[in-house]
Amino acid sequence: MAYDFDLLVIGAGSGGVRCARIAASYGARVAVAESRHWGGTCVNLGCVPKKLFVQASEFGDIARDSHGFGWNTQPGTHDWPSLIAAKDREITRLNGIYVSMLEKAGVTLLTGHARFVDSHTLRIDPAALDPDATPRTVTAERIVIATGSTPVRPDIPGAELAITSDEAFHLPQRPERVVIVGSGYIGIEFAGIFAGLGSKVDLIYRRDLPLRGFDEDMRTALAEAITTRGITQHAHANPTRITQEGAEYAVTLDNGQTLRADCVFLATGRRPKIDGLGLENTTITTADSGRIVVDAHSQTTQPGVYAIGDVTDRINLTPVAIAEGHILADSLFGSAPPRQWSFNTTPKAVFFSPPLATVGLTEAEAAQTGAVDVYMTRFTPMRHTLGGRKDRKTVMKLVVAQDSQKVVGVHILGDDAPEMLQAVAIAVTAGLTKADFDRTIGIHPTSAEELVTLRTRTRETPHTP
Ligand code: NDP
Repeated sequence: MAYDFDLLVIGAGSGGVRCARIAASYGARVAVAESRHWGGTCVNLGCVPKKLFVQASEFGDIARDSHGFGWNTQPGTHDWPSLIAAKDREITRLNGIYVSMLEKAGVTLLTGHARFVDSHTLRIDPAALDPDATPRTVTAERIVIATGSTPVRPDIPGAELAITSDEAFHLPQRPERVVIVGSGYIGIEFAGIFAGLGSKVDLIYRRDLPLRGFDEDMRTALAEAITTRGITQHAHANPTRITQEGAEYAVTLDNGQTLRADCVFLATGRRPKIDGLGLENTTITTADSGRIVVDAHSQTTQPGVYAIGDVTDRINLTPVAIAEGHILADSLFGSAPPRQWSFNTTPKAVFFSPPLATVGLTEAEAAQTGAVDVYMTRFTPMRHTLGGRKDRKTVMKLVVAQDSQKVVGVHILGDDAPEMLQAVAIAVTAGLTKADFDRTIGIHPTSAEELVTLRTRTRETPHTP
């Protein structure tokens, strides 16, 4: 049977676009269907605008720090609508770049919501991106689902009164008081953004420390940094109800407390976006909260249909979705073996102020496989000695497997942590040892030189299977 396309990708986010472009570069006839915005979550409602907001939130500190260096700069006031407008202009520019990138690669752009009619046929109906688009039906030999994820709200009365990250990027005004529920990536990052711009922030989380899953020492250091940033933390707390009285919202907690704010922000996770995809017209299997089940080759349970990125709920990060898309295109249409990535040393960063970045194993994870040597340092970066924020500490931790002396984990909380960590992730991916770190000459004066000058072991952690 002759199909309209060799490959049809549903979703023009980071993973889908990479998959489409690489497949087209091999000569495949490729189309991408997109219903909402070119570039997907990362470009429109995630990484990119978030990082711009984080940067916006740090200029007041820079102005204040400058006094210690002899400047007489005043932070002034921040104009939120100006930030939103500038951010929107940049996102519109990036949308255009995504479209031209796809067009230059020879990919056909299909504007609309795609729905499976059968495993090779999709109905493309008009959607938000272009409500006037003409509906059409297309066929493809292979189909890739790259639809991403969407925020979830806890099942409590009044949850609909709150915003999620989707709305946070378009708030008409910055709330003076905001209650944030959840201390994962999004909760922590937006707590930092709003606090840096001058809002009073209450952060609610249900564990003893924020950022479950990260190294315990770093979680403790982050909790201290959150307090230093002026954010009030409510650990071991769950919201039970949200109510609205005029312009004010009240969040009732299960510890009996009630917090009042101008905005309640739910950062309680995301779920795979499969709504309206017509999966019932295929043999695709989903599990848990709707993640599409795939094998190690991103193949779903429907032959010829694949899934990549957040919709598969593996490692939900943009660079991972890009890698998954690239590998899939290589393996479907390339002549050489697919490009390889080291997913088990995927570096991660949480853009708080200061940011936290990490690669490899936590101390507890490493100790499950053998005894561990831990090297830690905590210091005030040079800039803050004159700048005056002496309580803005940098914390670094190396986790070393005792038998091999390989550095199996690096964790940094502090200014520029993601920039440092990206470079050191190469060393961890390469399996370098503590001796390799030690024989590397530092750059002085930097914070990063501490990574190669940590001489004294902080502690030894026994094998804890
Ligand atoms: P996360 O899964 O990281 O965190 C969710 C938070 O909400 C946790 O603190 C969780 O608590 C809490 N929570 C979940 N359900 C409830 C509930 N019913 N009541 C109270 N608290 C609840 O999700 P995020 O929304 O922060 O981020 C989603 C994903 O987006 C991340 O997993 C990440 O992959 C990606 N992301 C990456 C970024 C980056 O790379 N910098 C930035 C932003 C997002 P508990 O831990 O106890 O379960």
